[in-house]
Amino acid sequence: MHRNKHWRAAVFEKQNIQETISKLNSDTVKGLTEGEAFRRLRQNGRNEMRAARKKTKIQLFLEQLKDPLIYILLIAAVVSILLGEVSDALIIGTVVLVNALVGMLQEGKARKALEALRKLTTPRTIVIRDGIRREIPAAELVTGDLVELEAGARVPADIRLTRSANLQVEESALTGESVPVEKDALFLADCRQEIPLTERGNMVYMSTVVTNGHGEGLVVATGMDTEIGRIASMITDTEDEMTPLQKRLGDLGKLLSILSLGLCAGLFLLAVFQHRNIPEMLLVAISLAVAAVPEGLPAVVTICLALSVTRMVKVHTIIRRLPSVETLGAVSVVCSDKTGTLTQNRLTVEKCWWYDVMEDVTGTGGRGEHRILPELLRGMLLCNDASLRGEQRIGDPTELALLDFGAKYGLQRERLERQYPRFDEIPFDSERKMMTTCHRLPGGRSGRGIAYTKGAPDVILQHCTHILQEGRSIPMTSAQRKRIGEAVERMNSLSLRTLAAAQSEDCRGGEEGMTFLGIVGMRDPARPEAGEAVEIFRHAGVTTVMITGDHVDTAYAIARQLGIAGHRSQCITGRELERLDDTSFLKRIKDLRVYARVTPAQKVRIVKGLQLNGEIVAMTGDGVNDAPSLKAADIGVAMGTGVDVAKQAADMILADDNFATIEKAIEEGRGVYENIRKSVIFLLSSNLGELMTMFVAVAMGLASPLKSSHILWINLITDSLPALALGVDKNDSKSLMRCPPRKASESLFARGGIACTLFYGALITVIGLAAFLVLPCGILAAEGELVGNPFTWVERLRELMSREQILAKSQTYAFTVLGMCQLYHAIGMRDVQKSVFAMSPRDNLLMVAACIIGFILQFAVTEIPFLIRAFGTSHLSGQEWLLLSVLAAFPLFAHEVIVLFTKN
Ligand code: ATP
Repeated sequence: MHRNKHWRAAVFEKQNIQETISKLNSDTVKGLTEGEAFRRLRQNGRNEMRAARKKTKIQLFLEQLKDPLIYILLIAAVVSILLGEVSDALIIGTVVLVNALVGMLQEGKARKALEALRKLTTPRTIVIRDGIRREIPAAELVTGDLVELEAGARVPADIRLTRSANLQVEESALTGESVPVEKDALFLADCRQEIPLTERGNMVYMSTVVTNGHGEGLVVATGMDTEIGRIASMITDTEDEMTPLQKRLGDLGKLLSILSLGLCAGLFLLAVFQHRNIPEMLLVAISLAVAAVPEGLPAVVTICLALSVTRMVKVHTIIRRLPSVETLGAVSVVCSDKTGTLTQNRLTVEKCWWYDVMEDVTGTGGRGEHRILPELLRGMLLCNDASLRGEQRIGDPTELALLDFGAKYGLQRERLERQYPRFDEIPFDSERKMMTTCHRLPGGRSGRGIAYTKGAPDVILQHCTHILQEGRSIPMTSAQRKRIGEAVERMNSLSLRTLAAAQSEDCRGGEEGMTFLGIVGMRDPARPEAGEAVEIFRHAGVTTVMITGDHVDTAYAIARQLGIAGHRSQCITGRELERLDDTSFLKRIKDLRVYARVTPAQKVRIVKGLQLNGEIVAMTGDGVNDAPSLKAADIGVAMGTGVDVAKQAADMILADDNFATIEKAIEEGRGVYENIRKSVIFLLSSNLGELMTMFVAVAMGLASPLKSSHILWINLITDSLPALALGVDKNDSKSLMRCPPRKASESLFARGGIACTLFYGALITVIGLAAFLVLPCGILAAEGELVGNPFTWVERLRELMSREQILAKSQTYAFTVLGMCQLYHAIGMRDVQKSVFAMSPRDNLLMVAACIIGFILQFAVTEIPFLIRAFGTSHLSGQEWLLLSVLAAFPLFAHEVIVLFTKN
């Protein structure tokens, strides 16, 4: 069955359009009926690549065990069994199991979130069914569907073209060749021989990209039956990308592991040297290694990033690559286009000019129909690809505004086009800033037809030699040229976006020697929330730059209104930019805020220039030619309404096209980074505290303050939840957006991070040792022996500690205090600059839950008999609990004192 379908898809290039229609049982005017499309969809399935094989739960679980830490733990378990400490081995086994299960669940959750996101970014396509043009998800296409293709679109299925105009397609996804190839619906392959894919001029294939022109065609294959579907490599699982932070933390983890293993080995040798019990010391050394390895680090980062990506969907942002969340927080310049992002993209034609009348276009209809130049109206409507059908508005907002303009004067594009059928076109291109369509004249008069061109007035004017005056095309005088310039200027000064139209009675003349018809001025109001976002960016040290294809006056008017630029000297046009060499451009770049009439190629130059100046650049774009600048930027931002090519090149997509959403995304990026930083510092300082407590005690010749099962309990059970709670903490958005962006290369330990880690590490060490030594020291003090030569009383300490009961109690103290003090430490870490009394627990309910669970678990290991037996702890009295709780709270006391003294 499949083979048969492939054979069919492969021969369509040899069949003429009529044969194709009958084979597919479709229609090149009306397409399929909805009912038939539905039936075919049910029969043949959705137009999707079969999803990569998902990992099973068992695979995910086993993956969690592939970790050096787990190997160390397993060695610890074996040594424990050899020493007869079976309960220790059981605890280690349980912890390994719980840890792997939790890891599996978390990873599964993160994967699900990302998968849901991937679904959100699936492309849509324009299809004609029942004679009506509509936009549907590409996955719902069926064979026989009549599909429209336009520049920038990803080809949604394998398609036999039925109509084409200057159609060019880039087929690198299929052939690796990135030079676009021309396509022509009229091409017909020789029936007698097989031709390679690249030469099938009348076929376009799924996943290739339309770079130019227009086309229409019938779907001949969908989903796995397409050419790309047959390429096996497309369906193999692609490895998940690691983010830079994950990589850095992975490296840090490895370094710490090596260091700690070295330390443990050193300690072990010391023990051998001191003639201590070797198997016991081996267990201590392993416990130390367990204490030192920051096991939770990479997991915390992945979970924080994945959760943040899910949160961003709520603010209309779709992140396509996980690392972008990190980069977002470091963005220092946001380059935005104007139309639709900074403005509302609800364009309305307000003024209209032709020689030599300026006319207001207001109200809703009919008024002064006779007064608008008919040729101008006709040009604006015929040279137009948008369509308007009740609520369904398909096409570019500029062109839709022109259709509304026509409707006010009782003109409809479709009806007009039936009178003047289009037979050729040169599509709009933001590089050329104009477009042309050629039409036959009414009444079937054959011959030369008429061409209409519309575009930026300055560009159109360069191509005109004549002007229409009183219905006649006469050579344009320089005075008339000047008048046109003045009219454009007047409209621009009123913040109107201008568009001119021209006609040529000879379609063979290209776009030269045309007759100027007139100009329309459209209003596109600024988005009020964009102004607020610019203001927030200013406080956050992020510069906003406007890059637009529009006229400099219109651009400046909007930029001033939004607070992007305050002076005209901050504006530059594409032409001026071209004249600047790199050195002078880099000198001026700091002051420039508005780039007008720039070409997409210049956008790349601007991004690179800013990057050379040390900036981290976010850049928006929506057109075909924006892809290179989106790729060049640190964060490429495509519009939800943009073309597929732009979306594919971008790191993030703004579902609502709104500039203010970028501000929300940057805030989220900064918040996530801050949270990861807090988590990492918390985990490392806690581990350092445990490690040093153990190291100092053992170096003093004492027993180990914690057993390996204790360390595991603290690290993997009471530590992981607070670390996660810090990772999802709600940051104060105002303070986040009040400081300048961090440098991209900045380490997690910059800005006091290293001091914080060392300080709390040292404090936890002191607290841990105090808890461990308080009992024997108390006995020595009572006996009056805690004086004189430290060597003598340390010797006495060793003696006391060798008594099983005292050691068990001291270890219980150390275990309880170290467990609890990390919970207090986590609370303070939420904001190192804020008193705990100023933080709202409601902002982080997970932290509240983590602390409650942590305290209960810590309580359980000294109060529940079977846990007491398993962990070798002893029961604690109320008084002891009180003493240990106060001791454990020292990190929080220290936090409050620091806040008090650092407050300005
Ligand atoms: P931005 O770059 O901020 O989105 P823009 O829409 O003005 O602004 P482009 O799309 O590059 O940028 O358009 C450049 C110019 O081309 C516009 O200022 C306008 O004069 C002209 N133009 C825009 N759309 C069309 C169109 N559909 N047909 C003809 N000319 C157009």
